[in-house]
Amino acid sequence: MFAIVFCPGCGHARLIDLNNDGSRCPRCGRMTEHRKAKVHLRSDDQNELRAALWSFHEKYLPEEETAPEKPCDPLFRLREELESIKDHETKMLYAAEELSSIKGNFTLEDLEELLPGEGAAILRDMVEAGIVFEPRPGLYHRV
Ligand SMILES: [Zn+2]
Repeated sequence: MFAIVFCPGCGHARLIDLNNDGSRCPRCGRMTEHRKAKVHLRSDDQNELRAALWSFHEKYLPEEETAPEKPCDPLFRLREELESIKDHETKMLYAAEELSSIKGNFTLEDLEELLPGEGAAILRDMVEAGIVFEPRPGLYHRV
């Protein structure tokens, strides 16, 4: 089951996976405990929620953030954030956490898109460090 919540820290609307205990806001870094979160919409259909999320973002984002050069695609945002994280382990954990929260299961291609040239190495480290598991071959999820 997935849901849309508004971050209590910055008001950012985002998609969460209710199967996880909690997740961190990609915008302000605040941790939300999912069972305490104020849920606005819930559904098993991620696409439905993603569509709703777009309309929330358009409604709530300040104008400069809806400018065309800053699309409010969560993956775009995540890519920018990952670029600013220098510590390998932090980057790896953050990528696993956020990708799982945005996409559910993620693939090597998703990682490569976020971290061009580093995806395969990071995925290998994630698996070795035991921070992701492989529910189906080629699909990964935060442990
Ligand atoms: Zn926030």
